[in-house]
Amino acid sequence: MDKKRREFLKIAGISTLAGLGAPAVVDRFVSGSSPLMARAAMEVETGGHGGSEKEAAGRHEKEEVKSGTRWGMVIDIKKFIDDPAMGDECVKACHSVHNVPSFSRKKDEIKWIWKTGYANAFTEHSHYYKNEEIEKNDVLVLCNHCDSPPCVRACPTKATFRNKDGIVAMDYHRCIGCRFCMAACPYGARSFNWLDPREGLDMNKLNREFPTRMRGVVEKCNFCVDLLSRGKQPACVEATGNTKAMVFGNLNDPNSEIRQVLKENYTIQRKPSLGTLPSVFFII
Ligand code: SF4
Ligand code: SF4
Ligand code: SF4
Repeated sequence: MDKKRREFLKIAGISTLAGLGAPAVVDRFVSGSSPLMARAAMEVETGGHGGSEKEAAGRHEKEEVKSGTRWGMVIDIKKFIDDPAMGDECVKACHSVHNVPSFSRKKDEIKWIWKTGYANAFTEHSHYYKNEEIEKNDVLVLCNHCDSPPCVRACPTKATFRNKDGIVAMDYHRCIGCRFCMAACPYGARSFNWLDPREGLDMNKLNREFPTRMRGVVEKCNFCVDLLSRGKQPACVEATGNTKAMVFGNLNDPNSEIRQVLKENYTIQRKPSLGTLPSVFFII
C-alpha cells in the first residue's frame, strides 16, 4: 500500500469502505487530484458531515422538532394488490418524468421506484405478519426520505443532502461517484450510473424540463421536488388517480390528509429498528 493510499484511509476512516470493496473506492479517490476531492477529504477529516454518534443524536433531536414542512407518503399495499397494473403505471410515470434510463443488464439498472417482494421490503415484519395475500404480492418501494438519513452522513461532498422540507436530494455536479451513500442506505434506494444514462433513454421521449444525468454519479427518487415547487403532486401519486393508493403531504401538519390517513390506518415503515425514521409509510 503506497503512502498516498495509507493517508487517505487514515483521513476517511469510513466503515462503508468495507461494503464497497475498499481498493476500488480508494483508487477512485486518490487517482485524481481535483479540488473537490481535496475538499471532500478535508471535510471528512474535520467531521463536516460525518461526525460522532453524539453529534448525530444532537442532529436527530433538532430534526424531531415538528415545525415547517416534512414531506411524507403513505402507500396502501392492498389497493395495489387489487389493481396490480397501477404499480407499473407509477414506475412508468416516475421514470418518464425524470428521464430514468432503462438498461437490460441487472447490474446497470437505474431505479427510482420499483416493485419488490413483501418479505424483502419488510425484513423485520415478514415473520409475524399473517395475511398471505399481502405476503405473496409485490410492494412498491422508493427512497424513504429518512428523517435521519445515513446516506447523507456518509457523503463526503454534500452531493446528497436533506433539504429544509425533509427531502433527501442530490446535487449531481458535486457527486464524485464514491458510492459511500449506496453502502450506507439500508434500503437499496440508490443507483449508480455505470453507463452513460443517455444511452438508455429514448431521446424522442425525453422530458426536456428535467436534466439527464451523467456516467459515474448516483441517483434516486427526489420526491418530485421539481413538481412540488410548482404546486403539483408527485408523478407516482398522480398515476394512482383518485384511488388514494398513495397519499402525499406534510407530516408536520396535524390537519393534513396524510396525518388523517396515518391516524385512521395501521401503517408500518421499512426497517424501523435502524432508527432512520422513514417518511414513507405502508398501510397493510
Ligand atoms: S432510503 Fe436510503 S437513500 Fe433514501 S434517505 Fe433513507 S438512507 Fe437515504
Ligand atoms: S456517490 Fe454518494 S456519497 Fe459519493 S459523492 Fe455521490 S452522493 Fe456523495
Ligand atoms: S415521488 Fe416522484 S421521484 Fe419519487 S418515486 Fe414518486 S414519482 Fe418518482
